[in-house]
Amino acid sequence: MKRREFIRKGAVAGVGTYAATKLGIPKLGAARQKAASGPVVLSTWDFGLRANEVSWKLLSAGSNSLDAVEQGIWVVENDPAITSIGYGGLPDETMKVTLDAAIMDWRMNCGSVGCIEGIKNPISVARKIMERTKHVMLSGSGAHDFAVAHGFKPEDLLTDESRKTWLNWKENMSDRDDWVGPHDMDDLTDNHDTIGLLAIDKKGRISGGTSTSGMAWKIHGRVGDSPIIGVGLYVDGKVGAAASTGVGEANMRIVGSFLVVESMKNGQTPQEACETAIRRAIEVHSKQIKADKQFQLAYIALSRTGEAGGAAIRKGFQYAMYKDGINKLYDAKYLYTQ
Ligand code: ASP
Repeated sequence: MKRREFIRKGAVAGVGTYAATKLGIPKLGAARQKAASGPVVLSTWDFGLRANEVSWKLLSAGSNSLDAVEQGIWVVENDPAITSIGYGGLPDETMKVTLDAAIMDWRMNCGSVGCIEGIKNPISVARKIMERTKHVMLSGSGAHDFAVAHGFKPEDLLTDESRKTWLNWKENMSDRDDWVGPHDMDDLTDNHDTIGLLAIDKKGRISGGTSTSGMAWKIHGRVGDSPIIGVGLYVDGKVGAAASTGVGEANMRIVGSFLVVESMKNGQTPQEACETAIRRAIEVHSKQIKADKQFQLAYIALSRTGEAGGAAIRKGFQYAMYKDGINKLYDAKYLYTQ
């Protein structure tokens, strides 16, 4: 009897393996068995280092990855010196600060907020939408009202610094209007970034989040890629997660974060998967990339086993990883060299 049972179990296991191979996900077998050991945090840009610190501390104390993502992102949202996210984010062309954010966990729960005004922590509004509504995304005044109903305090997110930067932009836009400025364009170049933060907790559960004020001087009402599930952020608890930063419109055309996670599902490493999406973006946007030296798009990816990757169109993108007790900044590989 025992032997028969052993054979039957073996046969069932064999069928499982065959089915996975037929579906084109042979490498997943290993990924499914081996969850990451200990916490891992991966985030975009150098400000990610500070966000990682908070997330790591929470994860080390046993928090789940969703809390770690939300509270890591708070660090960047709350810092007025970071002019592309949350409080102090540069405004749109009408001098209004509008914010985008998204959050997703290992169980496919997700929430996001687009073009919200006057709320400092859009990542938490996104989480509320995820946990307290049947929707995934709210935008504009509806999102604001929802946040207020949940006790978020409306506040002015325009700092004096970002107002002055806006004024500089306005005055230098054209010499055929009636605004006259000091013609100092220096602080106008670095005008968009996103915090994307992916985390794995001690139990191997992966979550991710994004938050940004989007492109400075954008048309009022513009929503970028960051709050769109599958574009700016995607998490598949059985595979891994990805997030993006850069020109949101370029990312929308290729549904980049989903492409990264799906490529991992099909057997690519996080690094290979990021490069797959960047190659696709370059293919689709070759003219714009050639014409505009600032045209940038980048991805970070984390497999549920704790392997990380990052890639960008151009040189300059950095990501921060906290793993095995070390928090470190990495230069991402870039694929456009002309
Ligand atoms: N992806 C953001 C947006 O398009 C901006 C950025 O990350 O640079 O809104």
